[in-house]
Amino acid sequence: MPVSRGPCYAPDMYRPLDLYDYDALLNDEERAVRDTVRRFVTDRILPDIARHWRDGTFPMDTVPEMAELGLFGANIKGYGCAGMDNIAYGLVMRELERGDSGVRSFASVQGALVMHPIHAFGSDAQKDRWLPAMARGEAIGCFGLTEPDKGSNPGGMKTTARFDGANGYVLHGAKMWITNATLAHVALVWARVKGGPDDGNIRGFLVERGTKGFETKETHNKWSLRASITGEIVLDECRIPASAVLPGATSLRAAFSCLNGARYGICWGAVGAMQAVFDEVLEYVKTRVQFSGPLAKHQIVQLKLAEMATEITKAQALVLRLGQLKEAGRIEPHMISLAKRNNVGQALAMARVGRDMLGANGILLDYQTGRHLCNLETVNTYEGTHDIHALILGNELTGIAAFD
Ligand SMILES: Cc1cc2nc3c(=O)[nH]c(=O)nc-3n(C[C@H](O)[C@H](O)[C@H](O)COP(=O)(O)OP(=O)(O)OC[C@H]3O[C@@H](n4cnc5c(N)ncnc54)[C@H](O)[C@@H]3O)c2cc1C
Repeated sequence: MPVSRGPCYAPDMYRPLDLYDYDALLNDEERAVRDTVRRFVTDRILPDIARHWRDGTFPMDTVPEMAELGLFGANIKGYGCAGMDNIAYGLVMRELERGDSGVRSFASVQGALVMHPIHAFGSDAQKDRWLPAMARGEAIGCFGLTEPDKGSNPGGMKTTARFDGANGYVLHGAKMWITNATLAHVALVWARVKGGPDDGNIRGFLVERGTKGFETKETHNKWSLRASITGEIVLDECRIPASAVLPGATSLRAAFSCLNGARYGICWGAVGAMQAVFDEVLEYVKTRVQFSGPLAKHQIVQLKLAEMATEITKAQALVLRLGQLKEAGRIEPHMISLAKRNNVGQALAMARVGRDMLGANGILLDYQTGRHLCNLETVNTYEGTHDIHALILGNELTGIAAFD
């Protein structure tokens, strides 16, 4: 069995590139998780994902299975969650994104952006109410931070939460580009408090669908992340009880800590997208004949493959080390920024080269590289753009913040 393809536990199982035998660094539980999700993606996501992408729909029929496999809030302990270690969690994200970035986004939002903040900052009642139902996939969540005019700078948000004493809060404003907005049973909305003891602070509010003044609208005409539902949240004098505030989330820092968890998953996910692209392209150039032989015989083609394999191998090292640091409780935001920026940027560049190597066939949805290429444009922008992550790193290196 060649090391370059990683071990094969089932003869029919997909085996991505593993030139440095990173597999040897995983424990049995991590390998089992990886193989289970890998098979799920091969059997249940890949056969139908191009149609969903074309139609702009999310494969909702797979949600109960994802829940059954423990993929929602997978690294949370208790409340019906799988309680995996952070490397196993990363492998889940990697395998899901081998299928499609939209599928990984669904699990990322559900777990890292809604279940995690409820777990970390919520009251016991909020945890009991939402976490088991979300782990079972019976309740879907969304995370409303971005606004039409405030993306990279969420601290400038205009959405307000007017304090109304014992009557709770009144939310007013709009959120945009929200993954799962129209599917969600509960939206975690971030808003600036007006009045009361927290005046001026940004806090997180759990808004249930059906609350008067809460509406969602789907965003159409996307050419990226099409197999993921994106939408707007409109809050029009939306009254919510005080019990809907996350008690432990008292500033924008809490929102950023959720984003860091989600970004960690993206670092891994990008490796899955790279692997999908590389495998498709490798297979193609070995079989496509031009001039005197297969494309793979030509030196420029081999150079491109060598560069792809190098970037995948480097990206794999980054996420594994990041996972170790997260397990040890030593992960820092700038470490995540480095890996998010590198892995997504490299995945995007690789998908662009890969699409070119597939020639005209590369523009067909029958091939997955073009779909990954389009998806990765979103992944490059959301959860902190490529350049914002450079500025986070710049701040760490110089001690000088380039933005407030
Ligand atoms: C499909 C999709 C799903 C999403 N899902 C969610 C979600 O679930 N929840 C949520 O809250 N948000 C979500 N987002 C929003 C996403 O996080 C924002 O789009 C992102 O933060 C960038 O904000 P923006 O689009 O307003 O771009 P802007 O902030 O306007 O940035 C535009 C450009 O300017 C650059 N720029 C900005 N500031 C600086 C600076 N100081 N110096 C140099 N360059 C700068 C950026 O790097 C970028 O290149 C999603 C976005 C997409 C596309």
